[in-house]
This record gives sequence, structure tokens and C-alpha cells, in this order.
Amino acid sequence: MTSSKLYRNLLELLWNSVNSRGVRLFLYALTVALIFPSSRFILAVVLILTIGYKWYKDYRLQKSRNFYYFVGFIAFVVVGYVISFVNVKSVNEGQIMMRPLGAGIDRVADGVYIGRGEGFRGSIEVEVEVKDHRITDIKTLVYPDLISVLDNQIPEFKKELLEKGRLFTPAQPKMLRGATETLTGYFNAIQDALSKGTPDFPKYDWFSSIFLNSFIGQAPNRVTLNALAILFAVFMVFEYTLQSMLTPGTGRSINCYNCGSCVGVCPVKEVDGIQIPMGLILLTRLGDYERVMELSKYCVGCGRCALKCPIGNSGPLVISAAFQAAREKKGKAFTGNKGNTA
Ligand code: SF4
Ligand code: SF4
Repeated sequence: MTSSKLYRNLLELLWNSVNSRGVRLFLYALTVALIFPSSRFILAVVLILTIGYKWYKDYRLQKSRNFYYFVGFIAFVVVGYVISFVNVKSVNEGQIMMRPLGAGIDRVADGVYIGRGEGFRGSIEVEVEVKDHRITDIKTLVYPDLISVLDNQIPEFKKELLEKGRLFTPAQPKMLRGATETLTGYFNAIQDALSKGTPDFPKYDWFSSIFLNSFIGQAPNRVTLNALAILFAVFMVFEYTLQSMLTPGTGRSINCYNCGSCVGVCPVKEVDGIQIPMGLILLTRLGDYERVMELSKYCVGCGRCALKCPIGNSGPLVISAAFQAAREKKGKAFTGNKGNTA
């Protein structure tokens, strides 16, 4: 194969991938998982359920083998979870025994260590210096939480901590929303830093680390859930537009403003709770071309909707586009009813 042909094939593969909604949704989920590690568990569950449902439908309709791969994957996750659970449980017990709290500082070697802890709005990062088994300095490297806590509660805690030279559990702050989480995150960040200077501090094995980082990450906090909701809305709007741009003939469906004029003049009006043809236009936005093709048999092709629609949309237009999209997707294997393609 020549290099130009290889290049063309690669471009074609990339284009086909981006043109597939499943791949795009996977890329969105991957982007979010990289930005918000604490969202990984939710995303993994959503992704697994979505793929599982789709492949189960394929299995019921076409006896597709994909469902067996899915079952195999679930078995892997369950076995992985059990293995990780055993390892995490024993490591956690060991970490509690060896944690550098109070007199535990005697086990920490001299040096400068960086640690992280989950605060109210995200990860807090600190740098801790240890000399002669005493904490001698603490620098805050990353701090996403309330400035008022950074100006008041944290300096108080830090001052006492440097005086004692060892880590202790901070008292609960009063009357300040989120301050407890922030102070706990700050405390956990220092503890994490000190544990790095403790020889033989128990660590998760490589399998559990990969498994936890891939599927679980950290527990999602309120900020992550809010950010996920906003990102979800942004992605959906972007996705509707992109879907209509990528599939020839469906571009106008994004402009439909649900006025219902087309439904008013259509002799069919409604099938299975879907208003015709407005429902068909909304289905193309979602990329559900199979459903559009299923319902296309009810359209008698009278063209009344085309005359009424203020943006020039019509039932036959989106039906034709749906058949075209399905034909392109299935390539030569497609053997649909050409009489319906308008
Ligand atoms: S062309 Fe089809 S969708 Fe449009 S009004 Fe006639 S029957 Fe309804
Ligand atoms: S008439 Fe046009 S804009 Fe109005 S609902 Fe139908 S397709 Fe949408």
C-alpha cells in the first residue's frame, strides 16, 4: 500500500469515526473523565449501560455477537472489582496503622513532599517540608476553595501545626459553609504528602491502581455534579448541531422551532404518539434515523407540510435524508425500499 493511499484510508477512518454518534459520545465522556477524575464512576456506569442496552437490542433483533463481548466485559469488571476490593481493604487497614498522624511523624524521613486532598470545590495541593521528624514548612500550591477559609481557618491550623511540628486532626470550624470540607481536604493533602516520606507506606498494587483510576477515581462532589450537568447541556446542544451538519439533508431540522404548522396540515398527524412530520424532524436531530424510516411508511407524500413550513422543511425531506444516512452507514449491504427514499 502506498503512503498516499494509507493516508487517505486513515483520513477516511477518522472521518467515519467522527461521523458516528457513538464514537463522538465516547470522546465527550473521555474528555470529561480527563477533566474531572471524580466523575469517572458515573461516566463508566452511563457508558456501560448505554452500550449494554444498544448491544442487547442488536442481540434481540439480529443475534449480534457484540452482546457476548459486553457480558465478557462485565465479567471482567466484576472480577476486577473483587480483586481490587480485597487489595484496597488490606492496604487501607495498613495505611491507617502507619499514617503519619501525631507520633507517626517519627517514621517520616527528612525531605520535601507534595500531597493532594479533595476540598469543597476540588483538589487542594500542598508542599510539606520535614526536618528531624518535625514539620517545618507548609506551602499551599493549589487551592480552589473559599478565600475566607484560606485567610482565616487555614493559617490558624497551620500555625498550630508548625508549633507542634506534627499533624493533628483540626477542630471543626463554625458558621462557615464548606469550611469543614476545605479544612479536611487541607488536612488530607498534608497527610498524603507525609505518607510519601514514610518508608514502606502501604500502596495499592498496579492492577487495583489502574482499576480504581479507570472506573472509580474519587467520589464525585457537588461541584463535579454541577459541572457535569452544565457540560452535558453544552455537549447536547453541540451534538444536535453537529449531527445535523454531518448528515446530508438533515441540516434544516436544527432550525425547526416546533410551531406545529406542518402537523396541522398533515393528513396523518400522529402515529404511536409521534406528531407527523414534526416528530420525524425532531428524531433526525437525535440521529434516530431507524425510527424515522420505520415511520416513513405512514407519509403519503402529499407535500402539504412543505408548503406550510416557514423554514422549508418537510416530512419527505427528512425521510429521504434518513434513508440516505442509513444507506451510507450500511454501504452496499443496504437493501432498503428505494421507493421510499423520495
Ligand atoms: S408529505 Fe407526508 S408528512 Fe408531509 S403532510 Fe403529507 S403525509 Fe404529512
Ligand atoms: S412547520 Fe417547520 S418549523 Fe414548524 S414544526 Fe413543522 S418542521 Fe418545524
